[in-house]
Amino acid sequence: RSISNYLFTGNGPSGICLSYLLSGYKPYFDTATVHPNPILYRKLQEAKHIPITEQAMEYLSEGLEGRSRNPVAVLFDTLLHPNADFGYDFPPVLKWRKDKHQQIPHLVLGKGTPGGAWHAMEGSMLTVSLGIWMELPGVNYRDLTNGLRR
Ligand SMILES: Cc1cc2nc3c(=O)[nH]c(=O)nc-3n(C[C@H](O)[C@H](O)[C@H](O)COP(=O)(O)OP(=O)(O)OC[C@H]3O[C@@H](n4cnc5c(N)ncnc54)[C@H](O)[C@@H]3O)c2cc1C
Repeated sequence: RSISNYLFTGNGPSGICLSYLLSGYKPYFDTATVHPNPILYRKLQEAKHIPITEQAMEYLSEGLEGRSRNPVAVLFDTLLHPNADFGYDFPPVLKWRKDKHQQIPHLVLGKGTPGGAWHAMEGSMLTVSLGIWMELPGVNYRDLTNGLRR
């Protein structure tokens, strides 16, 4: 395969998430969960068999408010951490499924080990976000940090 068939990304959080999507993982509404926003919840139920990334995200994000001006970012924030801005700790309403027919071969290039800017930070550096908000897709932050003291 020619090298031009691959996509190249950095290996920070953005690159890791993009690589996850290119590997065929798709976000679906998890029907075992309830989103606290009744309008969004109804919309999610309408197309539960279609990956969120293949739905009309403009329609899904209509009326949502959040910390970003990017409606897709606000939508994914509320799907991953519903009402987090109000201090709630609702579970994510997304589940990730791998579609092996939709993998896009790619290489993730980075100058150092995966993790991006976080590798350059001192151990004493605190995040601005809550730890739980720093989760990567498909990784449960609490499982990962269980038993760790810091
Ligand atoms: C002190 C501090 C605190 C922060 N706290 C938070 C927080 O609480 N919550 C939050 O969401 N965000 C926080 N951020 C921001 C966070 O660091 C970024 O949102 C995140 O790291 C961005 O990820 P990224 O993948 O886009 O970029 P980066 O993390 O910068 O990763 C990009 C990677 O690509 C590599 N790269 C770039 N160009 C090339 C190239 N040409 N060839 C090979 N490799 C290349 C770089 O070496 C790097 O490893 C904080 C940032 C700082 C500095």
